[in-house]
Amino acid sequence: MSVSEISFAISSEHEAALLTSVPTGLLIGGQWRDASDGGTFDVHDPATGQVLATLASATSEDAVAALDAADKVQASWARTAPRVRAEILRRAFDLVTERAEDFALLMTLEMGKPLAEARGEVTYGAEFLRWFSEETVRDYGRYLTAPEEKNKILVQHKPVGPCLLITPWNFPLAMATRKVAPAVAAGCTMVLKPAKLTPLTAQYFAQTMLEAGLPAGVLNVVSSASASGISGPLLKDSRLRKVSFTGSTPVGKRLMADAAHNVLRTSMELGGNAPFIVFEDADLDKAVDGAMAAKMRNMGEACTAANRFLVHESIGAEFTAKFAAAMGSLATGRGTDPKTQVGPLIDAGARVDVHALVTAAVDAGATVLTGGTPNEGPGYFYPPTVLANVPNDAAILGREIFGPVAPITTFTTEDDAIRLANASEYGLASYVYSRDFNRLLRVTEQIEFGMVGFNAGVISNAAAPFGGVKQSGLGREGGSEGIAEYTTTQYIGIADP
Ligand code: NAD
Repeated sequence: MSVSEISFAISSEHEAALLTSVPTGLLIGGQWRDASDGGTFDVHDPATGQVLATLASATSEDAVAALDAADKVQASWARTAPRVRAEILRRAFDLVTERAEDFALLMTLEMGKPLAEARGEVTYGAEFLRWFSEETVRDYGRYLTAPEEKNKILVQHKPVGPCLLITPWNFPLAMATRKVAPAVAAGCTMVLKPAKLTPLTAQYFAQTMLEAGLPAGVLNVVSSASASGISGPLLKDSRLRKVSFTGSTPVGKRLMADAAHNVLRTSMELGGNAPFIVFEDADLDKAVDGAMAAKMRNMGEACTAANRFLVHESIGAEFTAKFAAAMGSLATGRGTDPKTQVGPLIDAGARVDVHALVTAAVDAGATVLTGGTPNEGPGYFYPPTVLANVPNDAAILGREIFGPVAPITTFTTEDDAIRLANASEYGLASYVYSRDFNRLLRVTEQIEFGMVGFNAGVISNAAAPFGGVKQSGLGREGGSEGIAEYTTTQYIGIADP
């Protein structure tokens, strides 16, 4: 047996042991149980196509049972002392941190990202638990005298009520903690529906929340093969008070339309099409490093991924050559291999979509500098790809690529860069590289994006308000804004005492 076969055999045993420790049922009212119709669905490893686990697949009846459980404990949960909720979140932070290696491996197995990146997501995802444990006790209202100096004004925050939380497959832990932690902080109960492609991390996280002391019924988890079978009945049920969704813009629009039925509070974290602007006065090496991070984190499967590289014409050739060399040197493989820097895409369909965008760009006149041909063999691998001379009207610049492909175009003036950056229905993340702080202020005043990285390729942080404008969504997650998404404001007018 060769050395690599031995290490693969050992890691397989470890993987099998971890997978058997993940609950496979639905979490309803503090109990893990089977689906009402006994249905199940499989979860696959995108690096091998093999089945990792089989989970209970919630039905519409199960979804309603989960809301029953959430509704039953909403009033008592809302009355718990903020310190109690804060300490549950803090214990959850400690437990996730203790189990960091397990969470990281689970994410690598079900989603494909390299282990080093999965560890980074554990740190980022756990931080929402710590941040909101600290915010729980600082959710202030206000008391003041009315301007007429007669009556008094009292303003208090209350939990919005039972929430439906729907998360995508690309960040299986962080997308769950980014919603669950502020909901716990605010005193809301929840029904969580993770993406069917990567539910294992959320199942393990829910078990960890129970171990941290979260009372039965506060967090219910209904993994399911049928997403609309869960959201459909819940959005019509008047006991549900909020839907918080992270995912694609088309699905978000559908959920907003359904949420109108009961005029539900909504938070929508939707798609992006981030411009990465490199001005002529930028530090080029830093810009290339930032471009690598902004493009390649999560194999490009991130809403914040740099999707369009807009480079000043005077430095276009130099930036492109350095960036293409760096992209071409990355090692692709199964995320569990320590040498791997680029894992597989999530499924066969994702690879077909990415390659179709590349092919269409080449047909429109773009030049492939590296990559551009899907890898052979098992797993849904696609090589890091750089496209130069991409025409400004190419489809690849107008759509979320969600893969390791970097299209580059050039601009002449600052106004051109701003116009090109804004030429998208999306407005989530954007990146600006320059040594001129005044330029940053001029540009950020004019670009329509919820977030700007200034000489920074990765900006997500639990202490910062994450979110977009235009069709990238509504609301903010993280920061002091994050808890406000889960509270409602009540005003009490008090007669002149
Ligand atoms: P998706 O919209 O296909 O699915 C997201 C979630 O919605 C999943 O849980 C899915 O099962 C569920 N869903 C799908 N159809 C549904 C329906 N008809 N009714 C109810 N639920 C439904 O998105 P995805 O492919 O899982 O994730 C990728 C997308 O998510 C990208 O567009 C990406 O930009 C976006 N995203 C946004 C953010 C952000 O913070 N703005 C973060 C991560 C991902």
